[in-house]
Amino acid sequence: MRKRLLPYGLHYIDKEDIKEVVKVLKSNWITTGPKIEEFEKKFADYIGCKFAVAVSSGTAALDIAVASLGIKEGSEVITTPFTFVATSNSIVYNNLKPVFVDIKKDTFNIDPDKIEENVTDKTKAIIYVDYAGQPCDIDRIKAIAKKHRLYLIEDAAHALGAEYKGIKSGNFADLTTFSFHPVKHITTGEGGMVTTNNKKLYEKLKLLRNHGIEKNVMKSQREGSWRYDMILLGRNYRITDFQAALGISQLKKLDKFIQKRKLIAKQYNKGLGGIPEITLPYEKNGIRHAWHIYTILLDKSINRDEFFNLMRKKKIGVNVHYIPVYHHSYYTQHFKIDGKQFPVTENIFGRIVTLPLFYKMPNADVKYVVDSVKKTISELI
Ligand SMILES: *Cc1c(COP(=O)(O)O)cnc(C)c1O
Repeated sequence: MRKRLLPYGLHYIDKEDIKEVVKVLKSNWITTGPKIEEFEKKFADYIGCKFAVAVSSGTAALDIAVASLGIKEGSEVITTPFTFVATSNSIVYNNLKPVFVDIKKDTFNIDPDKIEENVTDKTKAIIYVDYAGQPCDIDRIKAIAKKHRLYLIEDAAHALGAEYKGIKSGNFADLTTFSFHPVKHITTGEGGMVTTNNKKLYEKLKLLRNHGIEKNVMKSQREGSWRYDMILLGRNYRITDFQAALGISQLKKLDKFIQKRKLIAKQYNKGLGGIPEITLPYEKNGIRHAWHIYTILLDKSINRDEFFNLMRKKKIGVNVHYIPVYHHSYYTQHFKIDGKQFPVTENIFGRIVTLPLFYKMPNADVKYVVDSVKKTISELI
């Protein structure tokens, strides 16, 4: 039996990463310097999009993405409830109303039919999440957005490197956001990115990241100018140069990271295939799954919470992604949402379990998780 808990996610930082960070720490630019632009450029090149803006977290990325659209206060934004709270919080920060719609039972992604049913005169945007790293039905969502003239934001916190019909997430929506939290594909400690192909939005994002102040720091230093102007209500969401250096170094390893995640997902699918009490995740045709998380669905005959506790007793850091956003007390107090509106979300939430998956996960641990799932099921039936 293991002594220490096997985490569900873990970053991987090597000597090269550390060397790059230390180099910046010894330089004169530890924030708002050249590494930020280099990270943005390399990130945009990887995604294959025009612009990228690096910020201090995935949540900050979502916040300025919504803010950049300048949507009138009180308007509605349609989103999924089966996500981390940051997705819909970004709507609330901007004095807009989140309108949750149900998910699909195969991918747990937002259901385009339900989006269409919930569009009103007040709807101005859709924020969709590529759950676990599997892209949404992007063609359908884009068609709905076009028909009703809605902005699209893709929360691709799970989907760095994911592809839909051969094109990487980060190119489909008006704005796409990423997170570099340590459990995500690459890390900068805390950090995030917004990508867009729209120059106007790009300029606005850069202002929003830095107090809404119009000023080029390097140029001002050269010219000795003291003048600057705050032209809109921005935030301080800047990322540091040493974090950007870490991001650049991590980005080099991203495809290797994704390949390994995919391999572990395959090992899980092989090891757990054919167990009648479990439904396994899969990759839809025409997409590249980024495998941020690996989740299994338990049959109604297995009590999820008992399964969870028995797995934790075996020192496996199983998790639940996600508690539907409308279950959180802030949301129940402020939005009074009836869970009965979301039968699929409720059903999946009651049966889902996330298994450990990270780049450096040893084969022996993958095997241990597989054996433990089987053992736990046999203990419960
Ligand atoms: C991680 C995550 C975020 C937030 O990212 P942070 O960098 O932690 O702020 C937002 N949305 C989803 C779906 C996430 O998984």
